[in-house]
Amino acid sequence: MAYDTDNIFAKVIRGEIPNNTVYEDEFILAFHDIAPAAPVHVLVIPKGAYVSFDDFAHNAGSKGIGYFFTMVRHIAHELGLEESGYRLITNHGENASQSVPHFHVHILGGTPLGGLLPGDVLTR
Ligand code: AMP
Repeated sequence: MAYDTDNIFAKVIRGEIPNNTVYEDEFILAFHDIAPAAPVHVLVIPKGAYVSFDDFAHNAGSKGIGYFFTMVRHIAHELGLEESGYRLITNHGENASQSVPHFHVHILGGTPLGGLLPGDVLTR
């Protein structure tokens, strides 16, 4: 899948859409999700053009991948979630309901988050 330079998060990175920033540097941006699914719901994105985790893990290189996830941990700690716990989610593609085609990791916390998936999503 080719990267769409007009996706919402590309516009956020370019400053064309406002965001509630938690952390920003040369390589990554973290901001509050516009429709929080938990008391703490922050999105972390690389500034590079990657469609999803699948694209990022294949093309960002070990240094870029390592930096990204080191910073995800750092941001989770800055959000005060280390003790109480947090969940990371990243959706790739249709079956995962990825809605924005720019790689992002959700950091969720601030309350017990329950089981892995809501309801009876899995059929065994
Ligand atoms: P996903 O379904 O994994 O692609 O997640 C996309 C997330 O982006 C959803 O949780 C949305 O609520 C969130 N979102 C969409 N537009 C914005 C925006 N402009 N600012 C912050 N979060 C957004």
